[in-house]
Amino acid sequence: MSAPEWIDDWYSLCFDNRFTRELPADPESSNTTRQVHNACYSRVHPKPVASPKLIAYSAEVAEQLGIPPALLESQQFAEVFSGNAVHPSMDPFAMCYGGHQFGNWAGQLGDGRAINLTEVTAADGRHYTLQLKGAGPTPYSRFADGLAVLRSSVREFLCSEAMHHLGVPTTRALSLVLTGDSVTRDMFYDGNAKQEPGAVVCRVAPSFVRLGSFQIFASRDEFETLRKLVDFTIRNDFPHLGPPSPEVYAEWFAEVCQRTAELMVHWMRVGFVHGVMNTDNLSILGLTIDYGPYGWLEDYDPNWTPNTTDAQGRRYRYSYQPQIAQWNLVQFAGAILPLVDNDVDQLQPGLRHYVATFDEGWHSMMAAKLGLGKFRGEDDKKLFSDLLDVLQLAETDMTLFYRRLADVSCDDAVDSVCDQLSDAYYQPDEINDQVRQATNEWFDRYRERIRSESISDDRRRQRMNRVNPLYVLRNYLAQLAIDRSEQGDHSGISELLDVLRNPYQEQPGKQAFAEKRPEWARHRAGCSMLSCSS
Ligand code: AMP
Ligand code: MG
Repeated sequence: MSAPEWIDDWYSLCFDNRFTRELPADPESSNTTRQVHNACYSRVHPKPVASPKLIAYSAEVAEQLGIPPALLESQQFAEVFSGNAVHPSMDPFAMCYGGHQFGNWAGQLGDGRAINLTEVTAADGRHYTLQLKGAGPTPYSRFADGLAVLRSSVREFLCSEAMHHLGVPTTRALSLVLTGDSVTRDMFYDGNAKQEPGAVVCRVAPSFVRLGSFQIFASRDEFETLRKLVDFTIRNDFPHLGPPSPEVYAEWFAEVCQRTAELMVHWMRVGFVHGVMNTDNLSILGLTIDYGPYGWLEDYDPNWTPNTTDAQGRRYRYSYQPQIAQWNLVQFAGAILPLVDNDVDQLQPGLRHYVATFDEGWHSMMAAKLGLGKFRGEDDKKLFSDLLDVLQLAETDMTLFYRRLADVSCDDAVDSVCDQLSDAYYQPDEINDQVRQATNEWFDRYRERIRSESISDDRRRQRMNRVNPLYVLRNYLAQLAIDRSEQGDHSGISELLDVLRNPYQEQPGKQAFAEKRPEWARHRAGCSMLSCSS
């Protein structure tokens, strides 16, 4: 299919394709699966789709990019953001990267189904890449089709925006378009393939470069290309560090470590489990990237992972995320070592900075979750870790627990804390004397600690509700919106997004979005079990 005539005159974003302008390209132009050497990307056009239809968009992202609201609802918008119509000033490409998957070096991966449509300078003066996910095969597609199905695209769209509104660094999502084509998927790799509706999400970020983007060149001894990508990234995304030099490389590494540590603190705060923390799925900017089989903690279970592909080793379980990120940063350090004369001592401070940033961030985050003004050391540490033990005595909804705790008075006498927290518990019969006693004992210490700050119940509640969300993208809520969308009613996606725009503020009439997981969702595919098949 050739581009339609109207595209030449179509609304013009402020195109600025610096990735393709400044970095080495794959000289080969055929779109065939292959190893690509000494190049950061391959030029490739999205695969045309049958009948694109916009089913959801983020008005905030559109505004940030300067896309007028009227344009969003036009058919031309759907044609452009499904990849059907490519503006002549766009320069679409797929990036080459590698990665460690589940702890093993996997060699070249790359954008197998993501096509960077264009880069733009937005209305806010900042630079963004607009990337279509599910837009067809690229040289990096390996054995797969380059496409994405509706269910995984709804999940990516909603979670990107939900995370942003929670204050968690993330790639954003501009639009979700149904392609009108169907895609074959075997959801649990068990021989039950079926046809599913295809979709394309347009993701937006200042950069989609990953830790694995650097690893691929180091693994192939392509040091010149490695240096070019590092210098490009520092110049454009870390300009405050100054012109690249060995000292700047070390500072840059430390900043990547810091941002990653801060991201881990956020994930732990809101109960997000990424599910596939391979080095190719960690952003160089410390953004949450690649929403696949992610999930949200319902009952507080540090060993939980939503990803059935990881069910055996549970490498990417909730509680391991901070140490997995650190492991990934060590691999990244190995990749950029040649730039600091292979002197490990140059990068050690960055890794130590990771640990220090995470520890400090964890302590102040936990203090904030409990409404404490400031972390006060060992006694507070013990208070936090004992709380996490208490949370595991009975199946307890993490999100509701912190919101309900904010409502329990520390000024007045309280008989049984458990009664006041009751709607956070999944199984009322689990709340036996032992659970009651342990919870009361913990609460007594907490109350003493709160009283030592002389802070009122009201003030404490306000503090806590600013960091403990009431509305998160509960796995089953996403699935309900998907079920409806697969039946042709897409309104559930925007309804959910609307609530998730204000996750910390109680919204009248929206109680249904703040309830713990219903029993039917406990073992249902898509709710508690997801795979990488998307
Ligand atoms: P992920 O685990 O989703 O981050 O994917 C790992 C690698 O597989 C990346 O290089 C993806 O681009 C690629 N990939 C995943 N799904 C597909 C697909 N349907 N078609 C082509 N490549 C894919
Ligand atoms: Mg990925």
